[in-house]
Amino acid sequence: MAEQDDAFFAAAQFETQAVHVGSAPDPATGSVIPPIYQTSTFAQEEVGRHKGYEYARTGNPTRASLEACLAALEGIAPQGPGGALCFGSGMAATTTVLQTLGPGDHLILSSDVYGGTYRVVARLFAEWGLGYDLVDLTDLDALKQALRADTRLVWVETPTNPLLRVVDVAGVAELAHAAGARCVVDNTFATPFLQRPLELGADVVIHSTTKYLGGHSDVVGGALVTGDERLFERARFLQNAVGAVPGPFDCWLTLRGIKTLPLRMRAHCHNAQRVAMFLAEHPEVAEVCYPGLPGDPGHELAARQMRGYGGMVSFRPAGGPATARRLAAHTRVFTLAESLGGIESLIEVPGAMTHLSVAGTGAEVPADLIRLSVGIEHPDDLVADLQQALDAAAG
Ligand SMILES: *Cc1c(COP(=O)(O)O)cnc(C)c1O
Repeated sequence: MAEQDDAFFAAAQFETQAVHVGSAPDPATGSVIPPIYQTSTFAQEEVGRHKGYEYARTGNPTRASLEACLAALEGIAPQGPGGALCFGSGMAATTTVLQTLGPGDHLILSSDVYGGTYRVVARLFAEWGLGYDLVDLTDLDALKQALRADTRLVWVETPTNPLLRVVDVAGVAELAHAAGARCVVDNTFATPFLQRPLELGADVVIHSTTKYLGGHSDVVGGALVTGDERLFERARFLQNAVGAVPGPFDCWLTLRGIKTLPLRMRAHCHNAQRVAMFLAEHPEVAEVCYPGLPGDPGHELAARQMRGYGGMVSFRPAGGPATARRLAAHTRVFTLAESLGGIESLIEVPGAMTHLSVAGTGAEVPADLIRLSVGIEHPDDLVADLQQALDAAAG
């Protein structure tokens, strides 16, 4: 990674950091966009004397560029303490945080936590002796009751998936710290452009960079960001020891996506607000979940904690589960698919798709719920598409 004026960019605005941090022109050639260091190993001048890189699992300049950018966007200073670490998927980042715990430790998970996070805790780490409870973290009293002397982590998602409830990060972090636990926030849905959990008191942020950060539905990746130097060093050890690292091209694609994150997030928020307002007024819609709606239970908290309400909208059509399935099969602009956060709009039925792995756990979602990842197409086309699909589904 090329040398950069760290102090100058550390003081710059988010949009400027997104374009420049980790992306200084290549000193060897002047290439304005840094090259993809597609190599597995690095030449040494003499035994043990090298330019900071030895073997590409341990470190690669393209990955270092992405890590520098993500650390800056989550509010970490260039020299630390802490930093960002990138992984081959969001689940690899999540697993790395869980690997900092040991047998006998206890963990509290947000009750509508990402299905894959629940699965790896319940079906892998629980077998290794990690205890856990699912708690509705929108209720701070419930969290207070659930915290135990052996609780090491409280795992927050906000807005939650797929019900888009809003959790008070500062409130959770304060209670967790008072009980001697750390607070982790999965910031995938909000991105650092809309929400900066470390500034609200959280200890660790994790991301599926597959979603809004990459932003173009063409790469899978994950990241962990922390300002806690000890935890950072342990996680860096695990990144190298376990080896769930991303390839250089995937890092480069993700970094390319991040440069337009602020532009895309503004468009996602604008379009999601339009779609949510359209649905809220539609007679064939029973309920809309979107923190940007003034009547939404999370609206005021989101207004304080976030700088926009995000691109995800969930709703329940009036006709029930069969109507929801018909509707999801009748959109033309919205593609029926799992995942979220790309430029294109997606539609899915979580109870039958992304959230199958939480069936029977008490964390299931209403069978008639539809989740939209609202893209950056023209909002008129998105609303018209939903209108015709609602008509078709109502039959
Ligand atoms: C997708 C997702 C993950 C998992 O990330 P992968 O990149 O698919 O491994 C974790 N948390 C949330 C909120 C997600 O949406």
